[in-house]
Amino acid sequence: MSNSPTDVAIIGAGITGAAAAYRLYELGIVAEVHEAEALVGGRMARCDVAGAAFDHGAQFFTTRGNKFRSLVQAAEAEGATQVWTRGFGDNPDGYERWRGVPDMTALAAWLLGKSQARLHLGSAIHDLGELSASGIILTPPVPVSLSLAQRSGMEPPSKIMSQLQAIQYKRTIAVLLVLESPPKEMPVGGGIQLLDGEDLAFISDNNEKGVSSIPALTIHLSNQASLDLWDQPDETVIGFATDKLSRWVEATDVTTSSITRWRYAGPVDVVPESSVTWGQKPRLVVAGEAFNGPKVEGAFNSGIAAANQIAELAR
Ligand SMILES: Cc1cc2nc3c(=O)[nH]c(=O)nc-3n(C[C@H](O)[C@H](O)[C@H](O)COP(=O)(O)OP(=O)(O)OC[C@H]3O[C@@H](n4cnc5c(N)ncnc54)[C@H](O)[C@@H]3O)c2cc1C
Repeated sequence: MSNSPTDVAIIGAGITGAAAAYRLYELGIVAEVHEAEALVGGRMARCDVAGAAFDHGAQFFTTRGNKFRSLVQAAEAEGATQVWTRGFGDNPDGYERWRGVPDMTALAAWLLGKSQARLHLGSAIHDLGELSASGIILTPPVPVSLSLAQRSGMEPPSKIMSQLQAIQYKRTIAVLLVLESPPKEMPVGGGIQLLDGEDLAFISDNNEKGVSSIPALTIHLSNQASLDLWDQPDETVIGFATDKLSRWVEATDVTTSSITRWRYAGPVDVVPESSVTWGQKPRLVVAGEAFNGPKVEGAFNSGIAAANQIAELAR
């Protein structure tokens, strides 16, 4: 590993940023990572409500690519990941669905630890001009990255601008319930995936999953229900979710409830490039799950591609 001065900054410590930092380290560059929140993981998110812990963003990830799979297995050997299930429902397909241990933030934390990156938590960047880096990798959802670049006077050329402006996101509302006692009729493992669900998309028992020490359910509304109920008061959304939940699980003794509104739950369409880049000093690269492939693994792959791209220029 070279001791060259850091001149790559990464905005965001979700899986894209963590993958980029890891790859840069492999290439001999130690990055500076700025994360607005107090926790790493981004939308692989954990939160605490009334003594319960929740995975309230992504619930699991797949490992189709060799690089991702081998790193997830290395993280498993050190206790940061494990196979959660080999499929949901009565006819599991046998394909591994992984989770972070103790929660979904763990994989990004593990990658960042290996990367030796200088991690700044609670460090929201409002102007990219504040950074002295010669290369900057932007990993927030594309509209957030684009607006940050524009605010910093570093907007992309018109062709890239149009491409990025066209990227739309689906929304997901997560309803979080703390229970007095474990829910009844929850399957072993604690996950119910409702692939074509009109109302709900996923139900997760955080206690059964091993995230929470006390009973706690995450309920993801479907994208359509999330859009329809987006501006409704919390009580209306919680009432909707608990009503629909009763079809699948018996959870009658709710002590506390809470909501997360995820405006950027996933791209409607994915653009074919692994990342996009413009500018010279600094060089900007925008990466994330909207590029090349969606979800956690797509985001990881985009982070790796962004690091490769910027490392070429940092040399
Ligand atoms: C409700 C929900 C359920 C999902 N379920 C699944 C699932 O089951 N399986 C799956 O594979 N995928 C799932 N996904 C998608 C998956 O979570 C994302 O694809 C992936 O986590 C995106 O990672 P990322 O690093 O690209 O972005 P993010 O995780 O959003 O990371 C970007 C980071 O940038 C930070 N940031 C933003 N602005 C600034 C700033 N100005 N300065 C500094 N930091 C900043 C943010 O705080 C964030 O930490 C789900 C997503 C949601 C929301």
